[in-house]
Amino acid sequence: MRAQPTASHFVDGAYLEDEAGTPIDNVFAATGEVIARVHAATPAVIEAAMASAVRAQRVWAATSPAERGRVLRRAADIIRARNEELSALETLDTAKPIQETLVADAASGADALEWFGTLAPGLHGESVPLGGDFAYTVREPLGVCVGIGAWNYPTQIACWKAAPALACGNAMVFKPSELTPLCALKVAEIFIEAGAPTGLFNVVQGMGEAGAALATHPATAKVSLTGSVPTGAKVYASAAAGMRHVTMELGGKSPLLVFDDADLEDAVGGAMLGNFYSAGQICSNCTRVFVQAGIKARFLDRLVERTRAIRLGDPTDPATHMGPLVSYAQRDKVMNYIDIGRREGARIAIGGRAPQGEAFEKGAFVEPTVFDGVTDAMTIAREEIFGPVLSLLTFETEEEAVERANATPYGLAAGVFTRDLARGHRVAAALQAGIAWINTYNLTPVEEPFGGVKASGVGRENGRAAVEFYSQLKTVHVGMGRVESPY
Ligand code: NDP
Repeated sequence: MRAQPTASHFVDGAYLEDEAGTPIDNVFAATGEVIARVHAATPAVIEAAMASAVRAQRVWAATSPAERGRVLRRAADIIRARNEELSALETLDTAKPIQETLVADAASGADALEWFGTLAPGLHGESVPLGGDFAYTVREPLGVCVGIGAWNYPTQIACWKAAPALACGNAMVFKPSELTPLCALKVAEIFIEAGAPTGLFNVVQGMGEAGAALATHPATAKVSLTGSVPTGAKVYASAAAGMRHVTMELGGKSPLLVFDDADLEDAVGGAMLGNFYSAGQICSNCTRVFVQAGIKARFLDRLVERTRAIRLGDPTDPATHMGPLVSYAQRDKVMNYIDIGRREGARIAIGGRAPQGEAFEKGAFVEPTVFDGVTDAMTIAREEIFGPVLSLLTFETEEEAVERANATPYGLAAGVFTRDLARGHRVAAALQAGIAWINTYNLTPVEEPFGGVKASGVGRENGRAAVEFYSQLKTVHVGMGRVESPY
């Protein structure tokens, strides 16, 4: 097994195995090869991970913020130095093309560690003059935070959660998706190499039950989940029962509005990036592309032409643009949505099949697919597909487009392409989304907050905003005079 880790879990600074846990095969979805086998965490592993995180958190909270920041920045440097190796592993773990993983995964994780590492020494409270008495606030860590990841960006998700958590003085126990168990183990190794106390970032494997056991553990102060809305609802409810903090980064059905006056090539490029990057397995994708009637025919022509040029194939080949989906189950789910789209009357402009030929026989491939003639009521326009399937819808007026774009329970992201500056800002303001892009799509630099509204989530990752979700304020009121009492 060519990517077998030393052991399944990383706890208290070292690899840990417990073969009593259910075996989980890690399958490379381009070939079907089993590349590694790990075991789900047993209760004993979960207890060991939580206990060591509790110990580490005490040490870490007592470490100066400047030193904490240095550890995070060193981890960022190590990740950058090992980018090629980490990207190759990410490609095996997720089956995403190496062309993407080399620039978008570990690199983005390093950015988060560097940015929050730089922020760490500046995280403090404020003094509140009260005219005689005064108060001050102390920004305290929450304690042990649990991170639970989805499978599309395993290194990035681990780092996006760990960076603000650790910068604020918390420890983290992270459970990757059972489909992508490998990358987070490397992040855990790297924290140790960077000088973090043992136990500060532990990784345990498992399915939903392991996530649920961590999320409801008495020592857990906060749960940060990246996953689907149904899982988010369950985890949020269990956190509420224990009055725990949460960050919920969930799914979406995000709209992109392309107006007649848009730069055609940019708008087509944005729509393609927002549907086909990572084979469409990105939460913020603009899976509903609303195009104004006057530009629609030209937009569709260019979209089909450029989509035809996408190179599908072996994700380890640097020339490949698009690999398979993460798993055969995900491929089947996506193909089923394509069938539903056809049956409900949408027209396939390009794609819509599993690609043919020897190179694709064993992989979970789906052709990049564009549906034309989609209406708001169709299933493919309402449900998150999480695959390379773009739905094209047509609109006449700005007001109509905004109303239809907002008619969804989701609210993760949105985009608008227009050359009219006022309209760009007006539409961005009107769209119900945690992030709206004007004349670009799906850029998520660490400096800006990221997260959803409505059913797409609670809380924010990245940017200064993330600090609010990984720390709490203590107020200390200092009495300077006599205590006045009527008794
Ligand atoms: P899931 O919701 O199926 O799983 C997410 C994680 O939660 C997995 O690690 C899963 O374990 C775990 N889990 C499942 N059930 C429970 C439970 N009861 N308690 C605790 N943990 C549990 O999502 P996917 O992995 O299928 O990822 C795809 C989804 O993630 C999409 O909806 C996508 O939109 C969303 N996503 C959101 C992002 C965002 O930032 N907003 C970014 C990326 C993806 P396991 O799967 O191993 O059983």
